[in-house]
This record gives sequence, C-alpha cells and structure tokens, in this order.
Amino acid sequence: MSLSNGRSYLAIPGPSVMPERVLQAMHRASPNIYRGELIELTHSLIPDLRSVARTDGDVAMYIGNGHAAWEAAIANTLSRGDTVLVLATGRFCIGWGEMAAMMGVTLQTIDFGFESDIDMAQVADALAKDVDHKIKAVLCVQVDTSSSVKNDIKALRDTMTAAKHPALLMVDCMASLGCDRFEMDAWGVDLMVAGCQKGLMTPAGIGFVFFNDKAKAHRGNLVTAYWDWQPRINVSEYYRYFDGTAPTHHLYGLRVALDMINEEGVENVWNRHSVLAEAIWAAFAAWEAKGQMRLNISDPSKRGTSVTAVCTGPGDGLALQNWTEQQAGLTLGIGLGREQAADFYRIGHMGHVNAHMIMGMLGTVQAGLTALEIAHGAGALDAAARVIASGAGPVG
Ligand SMILES: *Cc1c(COP(=O)(O)O)cnc(C)c1O
Repeated sequence: MSLSNGRSYLAIPGPSVMPERVLQAMHRASPNIYRGELIELTHSLIPDLRSVARTDGDVAMYIGNGHAAWEAAIANTLSRGDTVLVLATGRFCIGWGEMAAMMGVTLQTIDFGFESDIDMAQVADALAKDVDHKIKAVLCVQVDTSSSVKNDIKALRDTMTAAKHPALLMVDCMASLGCDRFEMDAWGVDLMVAGCQKGLMTPAGIGFVFFNDKAKAHRGNLVTAYWDWQPRINVSEYYRYFDGTAPTHHLYGLRVALDMINEEGVENVWNRHSVLAEAIWAAFAAWEAKGQMRLNISDPSKRGTSVTAVCTGPGDGLALQNWTEQQAGLTLGIGLGREQAADFYRIGHMGHVNAHMIMGMLGTVQAGLTALEIAHGAGALDAAARVIASGAGPVG
C-alpha cells in the first residue's frame, strides 16, 4: 500500500514549492501587452527585485531559465579570447564556465572539489600571478546546489581588492537569492544572476541579471541583439523589457511572490531559511550517530540554507528518493554532478517552506530510513523540534 495520496511536496532544490497566491495570480485571461495594468505591474517589479538583491544597480530580465541568465551575463561583459577565473565548488560554476568556453572565452579553473568552499589563499595566488590582468572576470556561485556549499562572497571581494585586481566579480545566486543573506552592493559584487523558480517562488521562465556600472562598462564583442541588456534597462517601449512579448502570466505571479517577500521582510525570509536549515542539520547530526549517512558539507558555517546535500551508503540515496516519493508523496532531489548518484540525495528547502513542512519532510525521511532498514541514529525529530521551538520565538 502507498500512503502518498494527499498534497505532494516537491522538496528538490528548484523548482521550489509555488505558493497558491502566486498560482492564483497567474490564473487569468491574457492581459493587454500594449497598455494598462501589465505595464505598470512590470515597472513595479524593478525596485522590488533590486531590494531583494540589495542593489541600486540595474536588472535585466529575460524569458529563460538560469542558463539563459548565465549566457546573458557572459554576452554582455566579455569578448572572444578574454580569460575568466572559474571558482568551482560543485557542478554549477563548472557549467557556467563551460558555457563561457563555448562562447569563445578562455577558462582558468580552480576546482575546490565537491566538499569545500572557495579557498581564498588559492584565489589570491592566482590573482597575484595574473600580472597582466588577463583575467577579466571571476565566476563563482554563492550556494552551489549540487554540493550545497555556501561561499563567502564578501571574503572573495576582499581577496580581489587586496590583490588590486580589476576583474569583475560575477556571482550565481540562483539557489540563494531570497533564501541566504546576499548584499550585492555592500559586498562589492559587480554582476549577479538568478532565476525566478527558486527563492522567488514563481514557475521557471524568467532569468535575471543584476549589474553595476563597472559591469556595464565592460561591454565586449560577445553581445548579440537578443541578449543585449541595454534596451532591457532603458525601456523606451514596453516590448523592450523582454525584446518581444512579455511572459505575461509569470509577471503576475512574480508580482505576488515579491509582495509576499515584502510582507515578511527579506531579513525575516533569510532568518526563516536559517532556522529551518538548522532544524534539518540537527536531525542529521542525530542520524549520523549510526550508519553511513552524512551531510556533504561538514562545517555548518559553510552550508547554504536553501539546499542540503547528503551522502549515503551504496544505493541508499536513490532507494530513499524512491521510497519517499512512491510511499509518502515527498520528492527528494537527486544526486547531481556525482559519479555515484545513487549514493547521494539532496533536500530543497527554499522559498515557500515553513516549520511544519520541514518537520513533515524529516519525519518522512525517518520513516523511509526505517522501512528500508538504513542504519541511523535516534532522536533526529526531537532535535529538529527543539531547534524549531527555540527558533520560532514567543507567539505574538
Ligand atoms: C538551478 C541553478 C542553475 C540553473 O538554473 P536553470 O533554471 O535550471 O537553468 C544554475 N545555478 C545554480 C546555483 C542553480 O541552483
């Protein structure tokens, strides 16, 4: 017998859970794209996107996913033959670099592996050796969704400043925008890419590139008509926002998602993600007392708060994903970028998630471990409940 009927929970690291309010806002007849409400609604998104990213800079929007934003970022800032320094801490920055290479950019890659964050000493060394400033941009990911490592972006900027290196700092915040603290201007980030389907709680379909004047001044010869961000930020006519028909319904959804973030307050959004992640980590600390299951990132200060990657005994990761989905209606994330993907799984806890969803997810994992006879320590749910009890504070 399966116990999966009832509301399912997609606990993968993107797309995330879509709020009913977002879905309801999208459920409407096609709006006029030439005048009226949609035009004003689209203008209104820009200041709210800026405030979520903590920047006074520009934001260009594209109909596309995160990969589209990656390509837009490279196209607008680099020239054929430029070198970029790729700081790989999992699958995603490698993917961004591969895309740049295909566009004619030369890669210099430092691979920190799947279990570590960026080692600033190695970055300092690479920048010091680049006396001719061949490196035009440093590419990194704030939270790599495959390894769930979180990089210290401010420390990276400080390292670049100390090296007196003029390269652009370009950061992928796909998995972390609206989840983990990110301060684009205060941390000195020149360009940041994100998508709408993770912390921004909207079905996949809009990619964002945020950038400052320094990034704007880098304009090289890779830019093409569609990816050019200039017309998308100096919008003379409405169709310029998306270079053609706007993603009408997504815009209604995104408007409500940003309203929800504003209502909660972005600092509170970050705190909620942080407490819920700590509850998950507390459960794992108890489970890890027995058996082979381990969090991929051992140092809590280096873990993203929107996604958790887990290593397991042989085949257990895949078996657990199958069990929770088929028997309990909970979909866990696959092991991504791993050779032995079956010995790995990931939990998405980004965006529209709350305490009871996290407790339900952990309880379901516990049931799966029990059913599959995967060895694990006791007390995980008690430990998670204690974190939530103290993190929630008094009833207002
Ligand atoms: C999801 C994700 C991407 C890719 O986004 P798509 O929308 O799937 O193209 C890139 N980088 C990171 C860190 C991600 O989490």
